[in-house]
Amino acid sequence: MTPFDLLQRHPRAVLLSGPTPVEHLVRLSQRLGVEVFVKRDDLTALGMGGNKIRQLEFYLGDALAKGADTLLITGAVQSNYARAAAAAAAKLGLDAVVQLEERVPGMGRTYYQSGNVLLDDLLGARRLNFPEGENEAGADQALREEANRLRQQGRRPYVIPLGLDNPPLGALGYVLAAREVVEQGVAFDCAVVGSGSGYTHAGFLCGLRARGIRVPVHGACVRRSADLQRGRIATISRKLETLLGCPPLGNDDVLTWDMALAPGYGRLGPEAREAIALMARCEGLFVDPVYTAKSLAVLIALARDGAIAKGSRVLFIHTGGLPAIFAYEPELRAD
Ligand SMILES: *Cc1c(COP(=O)(O)O)cnc(C)c1O
Repeated sequence: MTPFDLLQRHPRAVLLSGPTPVEHLVRLSQRLGVEVFVKRDDLTALGMGGNKIRQLEFYLGDALAKGADTLLITGAVQSNYARAAAAAAAKLGLDAVVQLEERVPGMGRTYYQSGNVLLDDLLGARRLNFPEGENEAGADQALREEANRLRQQGRRPYVIPLGLDNPPLGALGYVLAAREVVEQGVAFDCAVVGSGSGYTHAGFLCGLRARGIRVPVHGACVRRSADLQRGRIATISRKLETLLGCPPLGNDDVLTWDMALAPGYGRLGPEAREAIALMARCEGLFVDPVYTAKSLAVLIALARDGAIAKGSRVLFIHTGGLPAIFAYEPELRAD
């Protein structure tokens, strides 16, 4: 039994419409002196796409297997996960409750009304507000209480379980994405991917290793320092070992970089601004202010300082997040 066989045992709701494209970014490559290929996971088709569509296939599979009729999720105000969950719920005929946490200080009206929040409303999700920024336990608790209220009303709620003490179902989507890239026949010397909850990073890394591909996978920190994030990825990877029999990782397998993280989660720094402008002007493509701009900024920094060798082939996983561009209009215009 390979990890991919064992993965088949997990119920999956199909939300993808097929493999996402891989494209060579010719002009950006010339600028950076490395060959950049992009895995267009911003184009997973449902509900304006992004990496969460792959993760949700397994959470929704679990939710449907358990007979759920209402999906609950907690995230930042401009959460792509909440918006993607609301879209998946709509497609599968479930109600959605999204709890939005005030993680980013000092933002104005656009942040609270536009981008993903507007889409949550169009998707018919019920929105709850959680006023504390970095209180994961408190936010989880508040959402569980909401689920209990629904249960008392005779509903069948399913809380998307993102905490590290739960099975890493979301990572399974990226174990499969790694196989998808390999089967697309693109050769690459390293990959760069955003690392937030870590399910994308850990899943992709373990999926490559399960296919015997040993290239470095650089995780770009978007929420925590490189040290904290390394521990998180190691923890999720151990869970994937247990769940799927993925090969154990070595000490050097988990690479995390936080040079583009400042001034903090959901806040734009100069590196992210440069990445947004460079991608738009070289390639006519967009990266988002919260995640993919910082991931691309890490790629740029590693190419410039030689940690990614000149002329080598880099796979950039574009994890989506584009609706947030509109929520950050005032911040993107200020310079
Ligand atoms: C959530 C998100 C990430 C980070 O993915 P994790 O699996 O949480 O690490 C990266 N990019 C975008 C656009 C996201 O929405």
